[in-house]
Amino acid sequence: MDKPVRHIMGLSGGKDSTALAIYMRDRVPEMEYFFCDTGAELLETYEYLAKLEVYLGKKIVRLSSERNFDHWLKIYRGALPSPNMRWCTKVLKIEPLERWIGTDKAISYVGLRADEASRKGYMSKKKNMMSIFPFIDDGLELRDIESLLIESGLGKPSYYEWRTRSGCYFCFYQRKSEWIGLHDSHPDLFERAVAYENKKGYQETASKEAYTWSQGESLEQLLARRNLLKTSVAHPRSSGLLLDILAEDDDDDESFCASCHL
Ligand code: SF4
Repeated sequence: MDKPVRHIMGLSGGKDSTALAIYMRDRVPEMEYFFCDTGAELLETYEYLAKLEVYLGKKIVRLSSERNFDHWLKIYRGALPSPNMRWCTKVLKIEPLERWIGTDKAISYVGLRADEASRKGYMSKKKNMMSIFPFIDDGLELRDIESLLIESGLGKPSYYEWRTRSGCYFCFYQRKSEWIGLHDSHPDLFERAVAYENKKGYQETASKEAYTWSQGESLEQLLARRNLLKTSVAHPRSSGLLLDILAEDDDDDESFCASCHL
């Protein structure tokens, strides 16, 4: 007899995938929830997932690569992942998922919203896994997702106070203001991200180019710029609008990763 089709949903610890889990809980009771743990997650993400497990009444399966980020960084010759070279998603998210599914037929429920339907995400291309998008099919937009989160009592994860999406603490998709938020909320993690940029040896073997997490400057330079703005009494916008100033440098906010940021 054929194995039954599996119904799976990836949770990133972000608001959209959480809202989809709330939305689907009673619609697909056999749903298997999973979380790809990169080993570089925020504490707030684990706390939020624990609350979600209580709401769902089910365990969220943790998937991870057999080797950690540092191992893969060596394999990629010290090249930090970036929007153009997103090896982290492949080895830390997609491959563990594909191993978990194997040859089973599966329907993967993805939390892309109707108001962002044109965005493209990075997902598994395995033929035995079909992705469906219930929010798009049912026309649910941001305000609906926010209502689902409020009505469930879960609300948003606490990191949304300083960051707009889920994912690794060092995710290169972060806005510059979010890097500052990481520095102020988790100085130890900010220092670890700085250490990756400064890691000697990697850059010598990889290329002459300096790898930085944030476009155009190192994290130390970004922090120095923030501190200069903070202390400059001469700057007309130096205090209350500080984050707005840094936000002016932000990259296109349309960049995202469907595996990490929903
Ligand atoms: S959250 Fe960012 S750094 Fe982490 S795996 Fe996803 S794209 Fe890579």
